[in-house]
Amino acid sequence: MPTGNAQQSLRRMAWRARRVISLAGEGPARGKELFRPLRSLDDAVIVACGDRVERVERHAVFRPDAGMEVRDLGAVTVVPGLINAHTHLQLSHLAGETVWGKGFVPWLRSLIPRLSLPLRPEAVATAVRRIVDTGTALVGDYTGQGVLTVGDLAREAGLECTLFCEWFGFDTSAFTRRDDPWPARYGALMRDAPESLRRHMAPAGHALYSTHADILRAAHAWCASHDRPFSLHLAEFPEETEALVSGRGALVELYAGVVLPNNWKAPGLPPVPLAEALGLLGPGTLAVHCVQCSGHDIRLLAQSGTAVCLCPRSNAALAVGAPPVSALAEAGVLLCLGTDGLTSNTDLDVRQEAIALREQGAPLEALVRMLTVNGAAALGRGNLGTLEPGKLNRWAVLPEAWEESWERK
Ligand SMILES: [Zn+2]
Repeated sequence: MPTGNAQQSLRRMAWRARRVISLAGEGPARGKELFRPLRSLDDAVIVACGDRVERVERHAVFRPDAGMEVRDLGAVTVVPGLINAHTHLQLSHLAGETVWGKGFVPWLRSLIPRLSLPLRPEAVATAVRRIVDTGTALVGDYTGQGVLTVGDLAREAGLECTLFCEWFGFDTSAFTRRDDPWPARYGALMRDAPESLRRHMAPAGHALYSTHADILRAAHAWCASHDRPFSLHLAEFPEETEALVSGRGALVELYAGVVLPNNWKAPGLPPVPLAEALGLLGPGTLAVHCVQCSGHDIRLLAQSGTAVCLCPRSNAALAVGAPPVSALAEAGVLLCLGTDGLTSNTDLDVRQEAIALREQGAPLEALVRMLTVNGAAALGRGNLGTLEPGKLNRWAVLPEAWEESWERK
């Protein structure tokens, strides 16, 4: 499949398509803005100079330079490069190794012993290649030891990355400098990482049930003061809520004395109100999943300006429920999409998340914005998300199954 993700030299090139939805001039869309009609150009051309978009125009007025290569993509609809806001590329070698369909805790139980298996760079490379082939421009990837492997392989493939460097656990002994809240293992990695990678790395929380509140707060504060997104898994599965509210349930039984320290006490709040109480919500925070949300929780997410990454196929695979997409959208939450990793999904094609939500009735207008301009905003990448002069030349072809819907509009 042709994509615009290959790095180009500084020559000018053009791509023609039946329809281009550039989203030019649009910013992150919330509430009613999500559902606004999309402006499209029929029989249009994207002209790029090197790696940047120069213009998008109708083919009828297009005058190519002498010798300019023009590729015809055919009867397809092209949108800005897609944003997959939540992946775990370094776990790609564990595809097919975990238990699905029985809930989160059985899945976690099957994952834990496999986490000590060494990362396989070839599995990451294959996953990156497939992501690029879907027209994905940027991923928000959770990394551990694999941060340099993931960063290098992504860069070689022309895939932009925001690398969320995950804190896990309640051991605050390695957490000596609150103004420098990086997990210890990142010390050397940070020194070795090129500046092009370092500027897109951010300390991140795993989740409220697995990471000490002081660490989460310090990481959040660091991200806010360094203009990086802060991310954590939030309100994903029922046993998470049960553990945080009552200190009981299957998650606590699995984690007691292993992840949760012996003196751990349940905070007594559900995940979203607890994140709010800890000061973790707000603009710049990307909460992942948000399946277990009451109406009150949804209002908290909306009023705080928190971005939410929905991963509906991962939620379905683990049988944790479905995210309240319409309620989140109508409340004005900034929504984007992610696949999660290959331990809880069959592939990392973020278009499939949109297709899954489309089958549940989500409007195309909202899905296109969630896949593009909203994801770019959630990850703080102003050079992606729309196709207009000066932006990175990254674009994607929308699913063929949607072509008929555009024709009817
Ligand atoms: Zn995840």
